[in-house]
Amino acid sequence: MTEAIETPVSRRLASVKNIVIVLSGKGGVGKSSSSVQLALSLLALNPTNRVGLLDLDITGPSLPRMVGLDDPTATVHQSSAGWVPVYVDQERRLGVMSIGFLLKDRGDSVVWRGPKKDGMIRQFLSEVRWGELDYLVVDTPPGTSDEHISLLTHLHPLFTPTLFKPTTPTSILISTPQTTALNDTIKSLSFTRKLSLPVMGLVENMAGYACPCCGEISDTFGRGGGEDLATREGVGFLGRVPIDTVLVGLLDAVSKGELKGQGVIEAQAQAQVEVDQ
Ligand code: ADP
Repeated sequence: MTEAIETPVSRRLASVKNIVIVLSGKGGVGKSSSSVQLALSLLALNPTNRVGLLDLDITGPSLPRMVGLDDPTATVHQSSAGWVPVYVDQERRLGVMSIGFLLKDRGDSVVWRGPKKDGMIRQFLSEVRWGELDYLVVDTPPGTSDEHISLLTHLHPLFTPTLFKPTTPTSILISTPQTTALNDTIKSLSFTRKLSLPVMGLVENMAGYACPCCGEISDTFGRGGGEDLATREGVGFLGRVPIDTVLVGLLDAVSKGELKGQGVIEAQAQAQVEVDQ
């Protein structure tokens, strides 16, 4: 039997039922938006779900803005039990942690080499007081860089099946249908295989354009490449999301501060209805 290794990270994350790591080979394909949509969808799925969103894009954090927490009052508090995440809603169903909350000025750039990023990621994984979570969604930077290696190194004890939890972390790949993005997705896939990270499947984002008037989907940037790749590589295909003006409007309203708190969560439910129709 494999020896169980307990670390500060595995101890802290023992109260998290599922960890989903969101990856993309390329930037700009909608990885962070998909992480947010995934977290909001998990909240909508079950009223008792509690979800955490961890932003591991150390040099380009975008999650605070995407969930309406991009103001100076949104800061992380240190308690005796660890860092308290910033909550989107009063019920504390959606907690967020990002380096964006730790910067004095939100416009500051973070120019760090690997070891410093590694220290921050270790702290994020071992010191954030998430409490009981049904899902922790981890948004990563594009590609396979220092942040990904740090993340998987620190999560490694959770890959021991005998340890604390019935599930190991899993991942979702986000790609657009264009060839360049798909080629980089193959690199991300290869990375998951090298590090034995399970892949739940691939999402093809910005697959076609949904007409705001009639809802008809036109294949502006192509469509289907993600599904072909998933089939070829033997990973699940989780579905395609068109370029969606409802989503753009929603993200803009949140970024401008027009939607906040519970409104962010409720608007997601509305957007889903409109997309589904
Ligand atoms: P990444 O995290 O991969 O760099 P983002 O999530 O920041 O990408 O998305 C890049 C831009 O594309 C954002 O402005 C986002 O609002 C927009 N976007 C992402 N997915 C969609 C979509 N399905 N429809 C319309 N806009 C989208």
